[in-house]
Amino acid sequence: MKKYNFNAGPSMLPREVIENTAKQILDFNGIGLSLMEISHRSKDFQPVIDESVALIKELLDVPSGYSVIFLGGGASLEFMQIPANFLIKKAGYLNTGTWAKKALKEAKLFGEVVEVASSAGDGYMKLPHNFDIPKDLDYLHITSNNTIYGTEYRKDLDSPVPLIGDMSSDIMSRPVDVSKYTCIYAGAQKNMAMAGVTVLIVKDDMLGKAPRELPTMVDYRTHVEKGSMFNTPPVVPIYSVLETMRWVKAHGGVKEMERRADERARILYDEIDRNKLFRGTVATEDRSVMNICFVMNDEYKELEKPFFDFATERGMVGIKGHRSVGGFRASCYNAQTLEGVNALVQAMKDFEAQH
Ligand code: PMP
Repeated sequence: MKKYNFNAGPSMLPREVIENTAKQILDFNGIGLSLMEISHRSKDFQPVIDESVALIKELLDVPSGYSVIFLGGGASLEFMQIPANFLIKKAGYLNTGTWAKKALKEAKLFGEVVEVASSAGDGYMKLPHNFDIPKDLDYLHITSNNTIYGTEYRKDLDSPVPLIGDMSSDIMSRPVDVSKYTCIYAGAQKNMAMAGVTVLIVKDDMLGKAPRELPTMVDYRTHVEKGSMFNTPPVVPIYSVLETMRWVKAHGGVKEMERRADERARILYDEIDRNKLFRGTVATEDRSVMNICFVMNDEYKELEKPFFDFATERGMVGIKGHRSVGGFRASCYNAQTLEGVNALVQAMKDFEAQH
């Protein structure tokens, strides 16, 4: 049976990305060796890094003066590395969900941190807007898409101080004004690659200012200066970045990714709003187009498990909501198809007709 993959991450990738990566794992560039068994410093691998960096810069229109690097450790390690590298006196954080809170907690280890705004009081079901941003912050850290709660800042914030963005779950899904950011980072396992690599876009002249000695591996300058080759980078995940970036480019770039994401989200939210069994969990204006969260309406609560089973029988995978929200979450990253979304909508309609 055909599967429709709504996993939140690691998540669906374009089929050709998986097939092309699999081919290179078997025989890299026809050299008779696997991508897994060659030196990251070999002349065959360097072009993979170079083209990946070039495509990321091209697709996100990264201005000069920024570097793109690949690291291990996931976005979670950046929660610590960001303040280590950029917190001089005081940093601001938006508390918009589980991941944002984790980032804030790590930053406190490195200096003064202010929670500029929070939606914790609203159960993270909406986003803070129109808050004052102190002008003396070194940076304001935002989580542009809150993967668990399904809220998203779909536009870059206006801020008097430089932004740092955790874009783990919405990078490459829309054009971004990179010039507003000191750093953008993303665990790549949603919109960019298989799991195992973190992508960072860093503003070079903001590096080296923090008043602390940094271990070599923690200092972003190490990785910028060595072109992500100070130590052995995750070669296969980076290769899958390359294939995904080629796919994004061939499919019209981030503007087209944005159009597709908006279309998918409109179809699914329209059904959530129309169907008597379901309701969305998030304030309408803050709804994520990447992670679409919904629950059963109160009078149909007992139908949660039956709907899950019904959808599973139709091939839906990964629609269970995060344990802290419950209900359902349909993750619709770049590789998600209209066919997948329509299959889910049809399942919702057919289930409604039975009740
Ligand atoms: N930030 C966001 C927005 C996420 O969604 C996630 C993971 N789902 C993380 C950070 C943590 O990423 P990692 O597992 O790569 O450490």
